[in-house]
Amino acid sequence: MKKVIIIGGGVAGLGAAYKVRRAAEAGHEVDCMVIEKDDRIGGKLKSEIVADPDGGEYIVDGGSDAFVSTKPTVARIARMLGIGDETVPACEENKKTLIVKGKRLVELPDGIMMFAPTKLLPLATTTLYSWPGKFRMAMDWFIPRKERWAEGETAQQHDETLEAFVVRRMGREALDRVAEPLVGGVHASDPGQMSLAATFPNFLEMEQEFGSLIRGFMNERKKREEMKKKFPPKPGAKPWAFFNTFHRGMQDLPNAMAEAVGRDRIRTGAAVTIIERAGETWRVTLETGEVIEGDALIVATEAWAATRLMRDVDDAIADLLAEIPCSSSATVSMAFKAEDCPFDKKWFGILSPLVEDRPILAVTLSSSKWPDRAPEGRVLLRGFIGGPQNQHLLEATDEELVETIRQQLIDLLGVRAEAEPVFSRVYRWNGGMPQYTLGHLDRVDEIERRTAEIASLALAGGAFRGVGVPNCIESGERAVTKVLADVGITYDEDTTPRRGR
Ligand SMILES: Cc1cc2nc3c(=O)[nH]c(=O)nc-3n(C[C@H](O)[C@H](O)[C@H](O)COP(=O)(O)OP(=O)(O)OC[C@H]3O[C@@H](n4cnc5c(N)ncnc54)[C@H](O)[C@@H]3O)c2cc1C
Repeated sequence: MKKVIIIGGGVAGLGAAYKVRRAAEAGHEVDCMVIEKDDRIGGKLKSEIVADPDGGEYIVDGGSDAFVSTKPTVARIARMLGIGDETVPACEENKKTLIVKGKRLVELPDGIMMFAPTKLLPLATTTLYSWPGKFRMAMDWFIPRKERWAEGETAQQHDETLEAFVVRRMGREALDRVAEPLVGGVHASDPGQMSLAATFPNFLEMEQEFGSLIRGFMNERKKREEMKKKFPPKPGAKPWAFFNTFHRGMQDLPNAMAEAVGRDRIRTGAAVTIIERAGETWRVTLETGEVIEGDALIVATEAWAATRLMRDVDDAIADLLAEIPCSSSATVSMAFKAEDCPFDKKWFGILSPLVEDRPILAVTLSSSKWPDRAPEGRVLLRGFIGGPQNQHLLEATDEELVETIRQQLIDLLGVRAEAEPVFSRVYRWNGGMPQYTLGHLDRVDEIERRTAEIASLALAGGAFRGVGVPNCIESGERAVTKVLADVGITYDEDTTPRRGR
């Protein structure tokens, strides 16, 4: 029986463990053990059920609050786990994004895809941009591509920062007003550092193919509209939404994975301090001094934690991992009585561009974005704070963070100034968001090349090829394929998504 040790009980580690269990169920002589430092599993997926003093409950997501339906991995895993029916689409009828501009909230104009306008009239009439800003954006149609890639070249060979790319194609206003908060915000990243090849290679590819982002996104919009017509929702089927969650919050997913893996194979409250190779065996030492041995090892922690662990195994890999910076952030959820919130509630989120210089990156109106997140007559809001440029704000105490967000809600939305939240919660994610800076993919290639040479070892997680929940699960699954092959087990499933499967 081969034993795979997995360090980290986030979705990458659990995704790996669940695949090991599937291999075992398919008849392979293999087992696993997940070791997690915190006293809970789930990592950046953390949901809490909070009771309202007057009855009813809130479902609060402290970390990730959604998975996107354009990447099929979460839906595939949910189906296999038997929780496919527990997925909940966002309330599309409230799908509206508001952008802070001075004291006002301006709706993101219809037809903006990522940051590119694809409809003329909404662009012409919006007050989000100045007229010179709009003309500069429209010039994207005429500006020639920066260079023509040679046959077979990819975005990775032509990496550029988000800032350089957007300013080059559409001007600074397009960056400051939408691209930075919307595109950079997903990664809580500094657009001046963020690698486009590692995050949104499609922008670079679009420029190559269409010579213009506006043309490229118009083409994409057309394709989506055709798909919608071709595959209309089946009667009685759940409505399609870009953002989805689970019935009791995102934590449903790691919980179900942990059940499928078997709770007895998961150790929580156990921090690994040393990993070392002893002959054919991997030895993992816990903070308590206890040693656990296995035939294969998957490190599925944050980049900074993997740096420390890998130092004794391979200095060069540790050095490369250390070049992946991680920024900290916090979410602050709070609820109010509906009468204290006399504002229109048909929207999902507010983005606050950095140029607005507010101590807040975004606000989600959770009770409008999702059904059943708050009892009747209550409004649930979630503020997002931090990111590379605002790390200092996180030095505040929890009470100060709650007050900061409350003041922003009063100022931006008109929440009644004297209103006290029914409850509030602060979730801190220290070093929780890996930053894919320029050249990230080259570093990841080199990490993978070096790891490939170390038998029965793999790295997984959000630090490498995508921070989204689906990407992290996939990285865990890839890690399993690698280490099982190294111990002589060939196990690769057909994970091709099929309609209706
Ligand atoms: C605030 C926030 C909002 C987000 N929103 C979304 C979203 O809406 N949609 C989306 O798709 N993604 C979102 N993300 C990103 C996504 O949630 C993460 O990238 C993903 O969950 C990371 O999973 P992971 O398993 O790679 O790492 P983690 O979840 O970080 O898990 C790593 C685990 O390793 C453990 N560990 C570390 N060191 C050790 C050690 N020495 N010994 C034992 N255990 C150790 C940690 O305690 C942790 O539990 C968000 C992230 C944050 C922070």
